Amino acid sequence: MPAITGTTRFAGIIGDPVRHSRSPAIHNAAYAATGIDMVYLAFEVARGDAAAAIDAARRLGAVGLSVTMPHKADAAAAVDDLDDDAAALGAVNCVTIGADGRLRGSNTDGEGFLRGLDHDAAFDPAGRSCVVLGAGGAARAVIRALSGARAADVVVVNRSAPAAQAAAALGGRIGRVGSTAAVQTADLVVNATPLGMEGPAAGELPCPVEVLGPGQVVIDLVYHPLETPWLKAARDRGARGYNGVSMLVFQAAAAFERWTGRPAPVDVMIAAALQD
Ligand code: NAP
Repeated sequence: MPAITGTTRFAGIIGDPVRHSRSPAIHNAAYAATGIDMVYLAFEVARGDAAAAIDAARRLGAVGLSVTMPHKADAAAAVDDLDDDAAALGAVNCVTIGADGRLRGSNTDGEGFLRGLDHDAAFDPAGRSCVVLGAGGAARAVIRALSGARAADVVVVNRSAPAAQAAAALGGRIGRVGSTAAVQTADLVVNATPLGMEGPAAGELPCPVEVLGPGQVVIDLVYHPLETPWLKAARDRGARGYNGVSMLVFQAAAAFERWTGRPAPVDVMIAAALQD
């Protein structure tokens, strides 16, 4: 890592919890690889304090902030300008602080998902049938991104119906609520629930594995562990399966590019994300 001096600028992530975040490793590796004089830190910020933290970052001359749970909606309310994705989703995961102190809020999850999908699977959603399992923040970004990428249809499968309905609406005329039966005929299946993640839901499956098979691309947005039981079963049954590391890295790459104006060193960032 290059020396930190009086000219070093900073960026960071605000969230709670945030100590487990891989973002500092990913961004600092990118600065080191490109020789950019910046550091990236994790800041544990309590619920309700996001606006104050963002204002503090602006006053301290930060370049930008990543925003994670539980602050994404509060960050959307705290910035001066919102890009289209952030406005539609009501959630900001990336704040860019201009030289004049103006705060621009973006949501780079959808862009990160599509870039990751292309990187991992060379999959173009245009004209394809897609199923998204879950209707939370990640699902909403993915649904909007798939709609923007001209998918033929996006079926949203979720435990609670009102959330499913609201998420499906983000898909516009191609979004609808459905059941796991839709998975069988889907070209792309995305798990955007925490089922399978390390912790209490580690052994749970977001949908029955019998409906997965050859010819499908299956993405599990979970990346702890790198292979969930559901992802393993999908691969075992002949589907092309990928985890959430690429979405994580490419949303970070999008932030890097907004903050520095330079292309992100994606391979270095992926290696950093995978390092223990
Ligand atoms: P969230 O906003 O809390 O949404 C969680 C979704 O999962 C909701 O639709 C919820 O259904 C559903 N769900 C939760 N527990 C469930 C259960 N026991 N049974 C059935 N459905 C359940 O979370 P999020 O931010 O969208 O994150 C979802 C997952 O994506 C997490 O594992 C997260 O780590 C991952 N993620 C990955 C990336 C990446 O870059 N790879 C980015 C963001 C998130 P209800 O609506 O019924 O509550």
